Amino acid sequence: MGRYVMAFDAGTTSERAIIFDKTGSIVSVAQKEIKQYYPQAGWVEHDPMEIWSAQLGVAVEAMSKAGLTAEDIDAIGITNQRETTIVWDRETGLPVYNAIVWQCRRTTAICEKLADHKNMIRLKTGLVIDPYFSATKLKWILDNVEGVADKAKEGKLLFGTVESWLIWKLTKGRVHVTDCSNASRTMLYNIHECRWDDEICELLGIPMEMLPEVVSNSEIYGESDPGFMGGPIKIAGAAGDQQAALFGQKCFKAGDIKNTYGTGCFLLMNTGSEAITSRNGLVTTIGWKIGERVTYALEGSVFMGGAVIQWLRDELGIISKASETEELAKKVEDTNGCYIVPAFTGLGAPYWKPEAKGLITGLSRGVGKYHIIRAALDAITYQVNDIVNAMIQDSGDRPGSLKVDGGASSNNYLMQTQADISDIQVVRPECVETTALGAAYLAGLASGFWKDEADIVSSSASYDSFTPAISAQEREARISGWKKAVGLLL
Ligand code: ADP
Repeated sequence: MGRYVMAFDAGTTSERAIIFDKTGSIVSVAQKEIKQYYPQAGWVEHDPMEIWSAQLGVAVEAMSKAGLTAEDIDAIGITNQRETTIVWDRETGLPVYNAIVWQCRRTTAICEKLADHKNMIRLKTGLVIDPYFSATKLKWILDNVEGVADKAKEGKLLFGTVESWLIWKLTKGRVHVTDCSNASRTMLYNIHECRWDDEICELLGIPMEMLPEVVSNSEIYGESDPGFMGGPIKIAGAAGDQQAALFGQKCFKAGDIKNTYGTGCFLLMNTGSEAITSRNGLVTTIGWKIGERVTYALEGSVFMGGAVIQWLRDELGIISKASETEELAKKVEDTNGCYIVPAFTGLGAPYWKPEAKGLITGLSRGVGKYHIIRAALDAITYQVNDIVNAMIQDSGDRPGSLKVDGGASSNNYLMQTQADISDIQVVRPECVETTALGAAYLAGLASGFWKDEADIVSSSASYDSFTPAISAQEREARISGWKKAVGLLL
């Protein structure tokens, strides 16, 4: 048995390889950015061959940096930008078109035409109809790239999300699979019956022969071809990035919840064996399947998370770097009655006002830049709190703590304010690479590197914790100010 597990983190802006030891500590990291293509306004693409070669390159680099060979690596786990859609030729291994990235909005018109099927699609897939998910991206490729529809019908083409593509490449075309968590983001997968849905595929004209076999999140899918990394390595786990983070945060029990504070914020709550249909604008998704057991999750996202801080820096020019905001916000006692509602790209869950625009309320002569900075950080916490509450309402579970990660979670003011506003213990692990760690755990559980979830929990490292420190009265007053400000947009 190798002494390490390697995670491939195939993200939106870069490919990374991270090697972990048994305690979940990082032994080696390598990273390479990938090029973003914007062929038209609102369109986003990646080159699938670049994703593959960059990913293989960083894997070899991470191994050689730490002086490791293929024998030292017990297993590989993959986590990836979800929904991004790739179609390739089964014979040549070449993509027929660039990868259409999750952010790409080119299929808005296709989605509008599907409106009549909204309930059927929501009940089966747990999702709302949106260009975000893979289904309409795949349809776009079939309808718009010359010759592709015929070849697909003849069984000559394969579809996959990024982990599926990487596994196929790593095994030199021997294994065409996707894991349940990624499948559940395609809008083609029935999350209750755990199978591709023929009615939706027919509706969209998608030949089912091109879809990958759906496998669990933790099992040996195959071995990498020995030529790539100097010997074969078992590929033993895969999960979409947010689900991997939920697992990496050890949110193993129903009611456990995590938030990733990045450009946007992504909250997921483990709801156990129950797939809860939200009444508050959240989506339902598969967290993971291990053995025969499926764990479901509720998911909600905040569009403007750390991006509000980028706005302070790039548009307002009142800070020079994001990390300054922690000290600057503490220069004042409060926001002086000021609230920012960062609805720059509309309001998401639980309000769903796509046309809304942002606002700043409560401006008086005494409001200065430190108040604005503080209000911007607070706005992140109010939006996260709205989603936490939606999750509590949908699930009837009140989580004991909120596990956090992502770039902005390093801000202690932000974390303390979240604890205060949500009246919840906020727990930040020392290793915030939870996405990669989740993929490593899933692979290591299948290969026997870790025995079970208890083995993972007992081997894991330290964390910081933030305890609510304001009175119920103050919390209520602050939240009611936020509600009033948001209310102006509703
Ligand atoms: P992504 O994965 O979405 O690119 P990251 O997890 O790298 O995002 O986090 C970057 C985001 O977090 C940026 O929007 C940045 O403004 C914000 N951010 C980073 N550090 C801090 C900080 N110390 N305080 C507040 N926001 C921060």
